[in-house]
Amino acid sequence: MPPFDVPEGDPFGPHNLPYGVFSPAGSSERTVGVRLGDHVLDAGAAAHALGSPYASLLARPTLNPLLAAGRTAWSDVRRALTAWVTVPAHRETVEPLFHPLSEVTLHLPFEVADYVDFYASENHARNVGRMFRPDAPDSLTPNWKHLPIGYHGRSGTVVVSGTDVVRPSGQRKAPADAAPVFGPSVRLDIEAEVGFVVGVPSELGRPVPLGDYRDHVFGLCLLNDWSARDVQAWEYVPLGPFLGKSFTTSVSAWITPLDALDEARVAPPERTHELLPYLDDAEEEPGGYDLRITVAINGHVVSDPPFSTMYWTAAQQLAHMTVNGASLRTGDLYGSGTVSGPSERERGSLLELTWNGRDPLELPDGKRTFLEDGDVVTLSAWAPGPDGVRVGLGEVTGRVVPAP
Ligand code: CA
Repeated sequence: MPPFDVPEGDPFGPHNLPYGVFSPAGSSERTVGVRLGDHVLDAGAAAHALGSPYASLLARPTLNPLLAAGRTAWSDVRRALTAWVTVPAHRETVEPLFHPLSEVTLHLPFEVADYVDFYASENHARNVGRMFRPDAPDSLTPNWKHLPIGYHGRSGTVVVSGTDVVRPSGQRKAPADAAPVFGPSVRLDIEAEVGFVVGVPSELGRPVPLGDYRDHVFGLCLLNDWSARDVQAWEYVPLGPFLGKSFTTSVSAWITPLDALDEARVAPPERTHELLPYLDDAEEEPGGYDLRITVAINGHVVSDPPFSTMYWTAAQQLAHMTVNGASLRTGDLYGSGTVSGPSERERGSLLELTWNGRDPLELPDGKRTFLEDGDVVTLSAWAPGPDGVRVGLGEVTGRVVPAP
């Protein structure tokens, strides 16, 4: 079907228009693409053909120039793109610049600067607390309701959806073992998350207030924070996650601009603790997003984590990670933390879904506690859009391959 005739109601219709970077069939050249249905528009070529001033932002091998251009430019470019793919007068010029998705190669769409990962789901944090600190008086740590907990991760190992995930090796030691052993992880897991992509940098020494979130953050994508639970368990005290998570983080090939998600904004869960002023969002616009995530292993759905249940918002996370004066760079990526809802089928990790391996999942192709070599994990999601139409998020998928 020609891209201009994308069916009404398609989750990747003209109301969505996520950005990626692709190479056409038979070419190694990278350029910015915009998805419409099951096609990709060569956005830079369209800008050139229509004499648009945005060619300098779009005829580029990464999204970084567009990310850095700022909120006014983001809105202007989106308005122009919407016209290019919907106004019949442009059809003859623009239609030849589309490529079928099945024929292109998709790349990591931006150069990842710094990478931070949070821990913002109360359900997830409580499940982890119950499993690993069963004797603690509260399943949450005392700081949890006062600040968005996070850590700095490894940006150089963020990969695009479709990249194989090599099973990591490392040290592990069960509490009853006398000494640690070394070898491929036997508890390889996923974490279903949402990643936020920073466009506009900030000045060193100047915190970014809650209300400036949309001046800095360009868009979001699905993110899988692959985690080696055995490596993590042995190494994490006292400085937090290290090699158990730094081997690979997968992101979608498509970045959904925040402007496409206005109808999906929702208030976060009710706050049970008074927040310090820099995190107090009572007077701010709704900071949550109604994203319905699905986790599938080898095509079998195992969970539907609801992002609307996340306690800390992306705006609060941005305010917190800059409150000490740490500056933002174009291409910074921050993960929401594992998304887990209140019910058992809404958990975003195998750690929780199998209760640390105690209750294996029954899949048509066998039982699973943690991932086996050859397993393919796919996260997908949608959000409510205008007039009842869904906004599709680009999927993030990865296949586990054996340790070398
Ligand atoms: Ca995580």
